[in-house]
Amino acid sequence: MTIITLKQNRDKSLKQMHPWIFSGAIAQVDGAPVSGDLVKLVSQQGEFLGVGHYSQASQIRVRLLERGEVTIDTDWWRKKLQAAIENRRSLSDSACRLINAESDYLPGLIVDRYGDFLVLQALTAGIDRIKAQLAGQLLELLPQIQGVYERSDVEVRKLEGLPFCNGVLLGDNPPERLKIQEGEYQFWVEIKTGQKTGFFLDQRTNRKSVAQYASGRDVLDGFCYSGGFAVSVLRAGAKSLTAVDSSANALELAKENLKLNNLDSAAVELVEDNAFQLLRKFRDRGRSFDMVILDPPKLAPTRAHVQKATRAYKDINLLALKLLNPGGILVTFSCSAGIDANLFKEILRWAAQDAGREAQILNQLSQDSDHPIRLSFPESEYLKGLILRVS
Ligand code: SAH
Repeated sequence: MTIITLKQNRDKSLKQMHPWIFSGAIAQVDGAPVSGDLVKLVSQQGEFLGVGHYSQASQIRVRLLERGEVTIDTDWWRKKLQAAIENRRSLSDSACRLINAESDYLPGLIVDRYGDFLVLQALTAGIDRIKAQLAGQLLELLPQIQGVYERSDVEVRKLEGLPFCNGVLLGDNPPERLKIQEGEYQFWVEIKTGQKTGFFLDQRTNRKSVAQYASGRDVLDGFCYSGGFAVSVLRAGAKSLTAVDSSANALELAKENLKLNNLDSAAVELVEDNAFQLLRKFRDRGRSFDMVILDPPKLAPTRAHVQKATRAYKDINLLALKLLNPGGILVTFSCSAGIDANLFKEILRWAAQDAGREAQILNQLSQDSDHPIRLSFPESEYLKGLILRVS
C-alpha cells in the first residue's frame, strides 16, 4: 500500500480527527497510487496516522477512513455499514438517510432508504470503485430491501474526475414513483429523477415544527419542491397556500402529494415561477401573507460563493418580511455549509432592519438526526433554519 507522508505540522487537523487531507499537506508519496486506492498516512516522525481513500483529481487528496493501524477489508466495511444502520433503528418513518458520509465515518458514501429500495450516492473515487460490493453488503444487512439504485449524478463527482451515473446498481428496478410514510404524511418520491435522492429527508422534523404555526394562516411557500411543507401546513389547518417552484416536475409531484394526503386543492395555488421575481411582483401588487416559508436551493455551494449568496439570502428574506402581515411567521432556511448559523442570523438581522420590522426567533432548526453533525467535521453542519415571529 502506498505510504503518504504529511508535512511537519500539517498532521494537526488529522490528529483533531478531521477526515480530510488536502494536497498541500502532503510532503511525500511513496508509490504511484491511482484514484480510489487505499493509502497509509504517516507523520514526519514516521508515526502511523491512519488509512484513507486516495483521490488524484481532488484538492482533498485523501479521505481518512480510520485512524491507527487497521485493515480496511470487507469485514471493516460491513461493520461500519451495520453501525450506521443500527443507529437509525428507532426511526419509524419508511424513509430516512441510512448513511451520511463523513458524519457516519464513511467519507463519500450516502445511502437513503425509501421503503423497500435504497438509493446510493458515491461521491469519491474510493467509494465509486467499491460501490457494487457495498450494495451487496447492504442487501445482506437489510434482507427486506429489493434493490439499490444509484444516483451519483451530482456536481461534486466532477471534482473527483468521475462521470455521472444514474441506474440500477443491484437487485430490482424501482418503480418511477414510490410511496413513503412520514409520520402522518404520505409522499410520492421519484428516486430516479427527483432532486437529491428524490426527497428532502433532512426536513422531516422541521415539517412538524413548521406545522405548529400554520393553523388559520395564508401561507406562501417560495421553494416548495414536491410539497413537503405544503402537505404539513395544510394538514395543520392553513387557510390557503400559494406554493411556488421553478420546476414544473416538482409542482406536478406536489399536486399529487396534496391529493395523496386528501388535501383540498381549492385553497391551493401552485405557481411555476422564479421565487425571487415572483415575491418582488407580490410586493409591488401589495399582496400579503401570514406565513412565508423559504427553503431555497444551496445558494453557496462552496466558500467562494459566500458573498454573493449572502446578498441573495438577504434579498429573498427582505422580500418575504415585506410580504408578512403583523404577527406573521417567517420560516427560513439555508442549506449552504458556507453560511454558518451565526452568519445566517446576521443576514436575517440585516433583512429585518431594511424591512423596518422587528422579529423574534421562536425556533432554531437544523438537519434531522439521520443527518448527524460530526463535531470534528464542521462541514457536516449544513442546514440552518429559523422560525421568526414578525411584528
Ligand atoms: N422545501 C422543500 C425543498 C426545497 S429544495 C422540501 O422540503 O421538500 C429547493 C427547491 O427550489 C427546488 O425544488 C428547486 O426546484 C426550487 N428552485 C430553485 N431555484 C428556484 C427559484 N429561483 N425560484 C423558485 N424555486 C426555485
